[in-house]
Amino acid sequence: MNFPSKLIEEAVSEVSKLPGIGKKSALRIVLHLLKRTEKETHSLADALVAVRTQIHYCKKCHNISDGELCSICLSPKRDASVVCVVQDSRDVLAIENTGQYNGLYHVLGGIISPLEGIGPSDLKIDSLLERLQHTSEVKEIILALSPTMEGDTTSFYLQKKLKPFSLKISTIARGIPIGGDLEYADEITLGRSIVSRINYD
Ligand SMILES: [Zn+2]
Repeated sequence: MNFPSKLIEEAVSEVSKLPGIGKKSALRIVLHLLKRTEKETHSLADALVAVRTQIHYCKKCHNISDGELCSICLSPKRDASVVCVVQDSRDVLAIENTGQYNGLYHVLGGIISPLEGIGPSDLKIDSLLERLQHTSEVKEIILALSPTMEGDTTSFYLQKKLKPFSLKISTIARGIPIGGDLEYADEITLGRSIVSRINYD
């Protein structure tokens, strides 16, 4: 791409480093910003800088937070007897968006992946165990990790570590999608949905 301005070229180069944005989209964004008021561009830039410099991670659950503790941990309306263990903050957002869960979370910050050199000590696992040692409020742990080899390895590891606490340990059902036809489901999904079957009522 040939740019008529070095400044535009630089801006496009920076914006196109963002996930899912190619050079063309980046140019569209930069040209769009030029059409808006200077104040609007400043607000955008300030918001991005603030998120980088001022964001915290919740001391208790390690979710993204504005303060020492996140709004979920602080909320008296949440059910503190259930803790849902997830890989990262994006999963918290996804589960929150379902509107089906009212418990607390614990964000591991990754999953065990020997290939990438990520072991249990790189994750917030000790912090989860410590959290459980300091409260008798938690009755159930939901392991909500992705149904991959790494996710399964992590769940298995956690389940072993959680055993001494004699809590209820559950995992998200990985069944057939609603409206999905059994014969079109892949074997692994189908197998899991049979193994982790729930009572029909
Ligand atoms: Zn929190």
